[in-house]
Amino acid sequence: MENQAGVGAETVLVMLAFIALIPAAIASHKGKNFFLWWIYGVCFWLIALIHSLVMNPTAKKVEASSLADGGKKCPNCAEVVKYEAMVCRFCNYKF
Ligand SMILES: [Zn+2]
Repeated sequence: MENQAGVGAETVLVMLAFIALIPAAIASHKGKNFFLWWIYGVCFWLIALIHSLVMNPTAKKVEASSLADGGKKCPNCAEVVKYEAMVCRFCNYKF
């Protein structure tokens, strides 16, 4: 069955599956599950897109990017602090 624009339902589904990759990619970049976010994107594309843009990255992702930026992990409290730090800003541990 075709609508007035001559686009089949399959084409719409394929396009939806394709554009749902956008919020899924953003969410997975922030440390979320790509596949779950792809499903979310297929069901509620616009909501998933906005949600993926406004949400904060997971704590794990923040820690990984801080370490990649030259941070070091405090051996006492496991928080990431600047590499040059002599004292941990979270627990006052001395390096
Ligand atoms: Zn610490």
